[in-house]
Amino acid sequence: MKKLRPLVLALPLLAAAPADDLAARAARIHREAIVVDTHEDVPDALAEKPADVAVRGATKHFDIPRAREGGLTAPFFAVYVPASHADGGAARVALDRIDMVQNVVAAHPADLTPALSVTDIRRAKREGKIAVLMGIEGGHAIDDSLGALRDFHRLGVRYMTLTHTNSNHWADSSGNFFAPRFEPGSYRVHHGLSGFGRAVVREMNRVGMMVDVSHVSDETIDDALEASRAPVFASHSSCRALAGLPRNLTDDQIRRIGAGGGVVMINVSSVFLDQGRVDAARAALDALQEPAERIRRQYPDDPKRAAVEINKLIEALPPRPSVPFTKVVDHIEHVMKVAGPDAVGLGTDFDGIPDPPAGLEDVSKLPRITEELLRRGHSEPEVRKVLGENFLRFFARVEEVSRSLAAEAPATDVLK
Ligand SMILES: [Zn+2]
Repeated sequence: MKKLRPLVLALPLLAAAPADDLAARAARIHREAIVVDTHEDVPDALAEKPADVAVRGATKHFDIPRAREGGLTAPFFAVYVPASHADGGAARVALDRIDMVQNVVAAHPADLTPALSVTDIRRAKREGKIAVLMGIEGGHAIDDSLGALRDFHRLGVRYMTLTHTNSNHWADSSGNFFAPRFEPGSYRVHHGLSGFGRAVVREMNRVGMMVDVSHVSDETIDDALEASRAPVFASHSSCRALAGLPRNLTDDQIRRIGAGGGVVMINVSSVFLDQGRVDAARAALDALQEPAERIRRQYPDDPKRAAVEINKLIEALPPRPSVPFTKVVDHIEHVMKVAGPDAVGLGTDFDGIPDPPAGLEDVSKLPRITEELLRRGHSEPEVRKVLGENFLRFFARVEEVSRSLAAEAPATDVLK
């Protein structure tokens, strides 16, 4: 009896505090976990509006104080090269963005540290710092040069989306859904990857750059999965079964990416998460077709000016209403159901999206995902996998494949 008494006393406390208990458990797990976000458009936001990332509100979705609150260990800053620079200084734009990221990191040595590897990320966690990594967004950034690709790797770039919303000279894109007139067929230039595109993927494997299929067409995903000697991933895409955007992945794609050891990193844009938002966005954009046509007729010899004017129309659309953040966890669970608990992670697209969900407005809110996963009954190891361990396993495999190819000479393919 004597032994039982403390238990009896504790019972009313336990019964009264399940919610607090969950919050406390979530906070501990989140604090201890490595939290990776594979896509944040911080450089683009800073290019538009320069700010000190140590100051709260530096960009819409990121700064050091909020990253600390969110328990963020390792964001990948996107080295985004707009399609308008394809064949017009794309590599230079990428170089400028890389320089900017390096300057931002160097200016805050107490909080930020450059990172190039799984080891660097784990070390940053131990040292209580935020590991900043880089991924190129838009394969046109290499200006069709494998030498430039290798140089970008030397500068610290660790992944590249094979395209952005434009098809380039060697890979097809899923296109720009957010244009007034969206014709997926018009992006089918190579029916996937060209021969040179396959060489790009193989060279990425050799140097140890992760192959990213976010933004590419379905045919390009097929070809990338076939050509790649390492697993491939999607740095910021969600599930097409739940939100029918061409930018999202089909169940079959999710299954094949997962089966190869890759990961699907969930994009948190409301329109990427919810079919109602997809339909509403399409209807709003369709209504701009007429005015967009008028602009094109107005600038028949200046497509760039026309694009700028059409973009103003799109930006003037009323803001898309956000969906509840629990939808993010619906997508995480969908990937788990389709490809298993090892195939999913987070690629928020913060600072690249106008419509983060309610409750996940910026990086400071990331712990809510942990809390919701626990609330839905996911185990602590499963939660840690989603937050970062799945991605780290995938990244480690890419590093391993690169080491195994060390004897291979640099590829000399050129675009014909
Ligand atoms: Zn993107």
